[in-house]
Amino acid sequence: MSPVGGVGINYAIQDAVATVNVLSQGLKSGRVSDADLAEVQRQREWPTRVIQAAQSFLQRRIIAGALNTAQAANVPWQLRLFAKIPIVRDIPPKISDISST
Ligand SMILES: Cc1cc2nc3c(=O)[nH]c(=O)nc-3n(C[C@H](O)[C@H](O)[C@H](O)COP(=O)(O)OP(=O)(O)OC[C@H]3O[C@@H](n4cnc5c(N)ncnc54)[C@H](O)[C@@H]3O)c2cc1C
Repeated sequence: MSPVGGVGINYAIQDAVATVNVLSQGLKSGRVSDADLAEVQRQREWPTRVIQAAQSFLQRRIIAGALNTAQAANVPWQLRLFAKIPIVRDIPPKISDISST
């Protein structure tokens, strides 16, 4: 997970919650199957892929340009607006929550 967006720790916690919910019974009885592990992956793969795609987009379109210039960074107004509206700003970490349903 890239540091872009600062959501990786949130995802790690969500991964842990999904994992314990799926595996706890099997671990208690000493029987965890490949199907159990596949279920963890099924729940966690798509939100991870979605956020990684968003991170790659931000890296290519905004961060790479800022790093490759000697001038002061000029943050696009769309990104400043994004960071100022809590309901919009909270979408990336919330994508992770949706997956556990
Ligand atoms: C440079 C950088 C900066 C970041 N900054 C931020 C940030 O500011 N905010 C944020 O939210 N996220 C950030 N992230 C993302 C965040 O660090 C990760 O998403 C998060 O740490 C993932 O946690 P994890 O427990 O799933 O995996 P990891 O933290 O990668 O932990 C996996 C552990 O398993 C161990 N391991 C691997 N294979 C084996 C094996 N076979 N046997 C035993 N142990 C094994 C590894 O050594 C490691 O200790 C950053 C990432 C990077 C690379």
